[in-house]
Amino acid sequence: MKIIIYPGSFDPVTNGHIDIIIRAARLCDKLIVAVANNESKKAVFSLEERVELLKRSLAGMENVEVTSFTGLLSEFVKKNKASAIIKGLRTVSDYEYELQMALINKSLSPEVETLFLVADIKYSFLSSSIVRELAKLGGNIEGLVPDCIKETVIKKLGNN
Ligand code: ADP
Repeated sequence: MKIIIYPGSFDPVTNGHIDIIIRAARLCDKLIVAVANNESKKAVFSLEERVELLKRSLAGMENVEVTSFTGLLSEFVKKNKASAIIKGLRTVSDYEYELQMALINKSLSPEVETLFLVADIKYSFLSSSIVRELAKLGGNIEGLVPDCIKETVIKKLGNN
């Protein structure tokens, strides 16, 4: 069985992430969306909230599982017998950062590949931080996050 891991902060999940998930799920038998529990990268949504928002958004996607992980991604990948990590690339700066990560993970676990999917042009400007900022300032986040989580995101971040 081909298992791929899609790791990230998902703080919160956006339609850009969902696009990558749908496309990545077609390439494997099981896609594990893995929410990083990273103490040094302070998230606005708790780990439980980030997992719940993803699960709600992905309900009905049969070969997609949502979970969280702590510690080294390369260890998580091995523990789950996954053959690859998948990442989305929006910009050149994403590429620089992701290349560094891919090389580190390769040196830690030579058997684990990193695959890159190029972001859909309509989501190439979209990030969780843009969504957080917009929601905080009362901007419209319609079309940027799944409809089923929109109200929860606004309630958490909005002024009223
Ligand atoms: P963000 O940069 O939005 O905080 P994450 O840390 O959750 O995102 O990112 C997880 C992965 O998803 C990374 O590989 C990132 O490049 C990718 N990603 C994030 N937003 C998008 C998008 N709009 N389109 C495609 N890939 C994306």
